[in-house]
Amino acid sequence: MLLHRSTWPEIEQFLQRSRSIVIPIGSNEQHGPIGLLGTDWMCPEIIANEAQKEADILIGPTFNIGMAQHHLGFAGTISLRPSTFMAAIGDWVRSLAGHGFEKILFLNGHGGNIASIEAAFSELYAEASFAGRPAGFALKLCNWWDLEGVGALANQQFPTGHGMHATPSEIAVTQWAYSDSIKSADYHPQIAPSGPIREALDFRARFPDGRMGSDPAQATPEKGGALVRLAAQSLVKELGAFSRETSPR
Ligand SMILES: [Zn+2]
Repeated sequence: MLLHRSTWPEIEQFLQRSRSIVIPIGSNEQHGPIGLLGTDWMCPEIIANEAQKEADILIGPTFNIGMAQHHLGFAGTISLRPSTFMAAIGDWVRSLAGHGFEKILFLNGHGGNIASIEAAFSELYAEASFAGRPAGFALKLCNWWDLEGVGALANQQFPTGHGMHATPSEIAVTQWAYSDSIKSADYHPQIAPSGPIREALDFRARFPDGRMGSDPAQATPEKGGALVRLAAQSLVKELGAFSRETSPR
């Protein structure tokens, strides 16, 4: 079930049978010569959409702009600074918790978001801790590539040249979902260099075509489909376990 394609009475009804929701969260940023700018928000959205076809789970609208300051040297990247991103996550959670959602799982598609999402969770829990009251909700961050079995499948599909950014696995997922937007390019070198992530000018100088350690030419829609199906199944399991967690209080 998709929240944005439901009505408020339908969400009220859903809350009678479940208090859990999945929010796909990502980033709109350069993904090398063939990766779509939306790759990091599309991947969790694609997986979550697939998961809700098989199970009675609720998927919220995609939080599609993340913390991508290091990619701002490439056209089309849109970034929130960490403080803005955290403030926005806080208001999403407060809105959902106010309606009675108690388990909020953020399905993340961008490594650069992780620190800020975790810090946003701590800010939200701190509000309850300082007030000496229960939060009333629990938050969980799941990176889609960490869902059960997904890393192993990606390693098998791409034993070399997977890399850290503009990876063949994430590009394969978008190729499966958006087969009319598949691009190609020549790579020099075939596998991109690796290195640290700092500010945008430094990033562009280290990684001139935007890739980090990856060879995206290995992506195919078929490999993407296998990743999506496995990730969707694992997401349903992960959300089930999270929903069954009880508070010791
Ligand atoms: Zn990415």
